[in-house]
Amino acid sequence: MSFNVTVLGSGAAIPTSNRNPSAHYVVCNDRYFLIDCGEGTQLQIRKYGLKIQKISHILISHLHGDHYFGLVGLLSTMHLLGRTQGVTVYAPAELKDTIMRQLEIGNAKLDFTVDFVPLQNTVPNNPIFEDKLLKVFAFPLKHRIPTWGFRIEEKEKERTLMINKALEDGLLREHFPKLKRNEIVKEKGKIFLPENYTLPPKQTRSYAYCSDTAFDSNLVEFVKNANLLYHEATFIEKEKIRAKQTFHSTAMEAAKIAQKSNVHKLLLGHFSARYESTVDHLVEAKIEFENVICAEDGLRIEI
Ligand SMILES: [Zn+2]
Repeated sequence: MSFNVTVLGSGAAIPTSNRNPSAHYVVCNDRYFLIDCGEGTQLQIRKYGLKIQKISHILISHLHGDHYFGLVGLLSTMHLLGRTQGVTVYAPAELKDTIMRQLEIGNAKLDFTVDFVPLQNTVPNNPIFEDKLLKVFAFPLKHRIPTWGFRIEEKEKERTLMINKALEDGLLREHFPKLKRNEIVKEKGKIFLPENYTLPPKQTRSYAYCSDTAFDSNLVEFVKNANLLYHEATFIEKEKIRAKQTFHSTAMEAAKIAQKSNVHKLLLGHFSARYESTVDHLVEAKIEFENVICAEDGLRIEI
């Protein structure tokens, strides 16, 4: 089952000719998420050949415009394309009025429901969304206004059945689910141990998203062991004072979080428009954490 992230926008507040504002398109086990929705996100979705109508959950980290100005346009296009299936938007509570007011002014009615779930009510260890395959968590970041990070993670998987061996030994198919759940099967006085008929489950995977935030070691517990960590790196160390003043991070600070969190791979993004290249971001991040890459619009990463 596929788990991948496509970066739709890798820039900070001011868009440039090659960097849109924040948005990540995440596919996890056939579930489709959009994280943040900066201006122009729907155009990026089209440009990179992704499916607009598949998106069922939209996660908005905070209400700085470069993280949500694209939302009303995206919802409107979903409607024009004939959508009837509802969308759930997890966001700061104030977003609901903003979006509904924009639609009302133009007398626009959507043919689908938009459920707004306020992030203010969430507790970091309780999932904001859960189904049989995955869980999504929200956790607080350290920014100028209330801001949340997100973690999408697969649930514990079942063991893989060795069907031929099970059939050869006379096990009935009705017992297969039990073996996959690592339970012992008793049949006609015989005992069948799951470890003899199944292989260990595939490892669960997770993706953690942190934008925008100042350096905050409290994040470690929320993102630890993630296969992929996205962490903003608006600045480099040369602009460390500016980073502190604006509650953003430097590439080195992002890498420190990755290092402390034991994540597998670090993805940097939200680059200030002042940088023409991200070479310096990469060089200083690698001092702290080796497995790091810089986001580009359109970059797709398999987790
Ligand atoms: Zn911000």
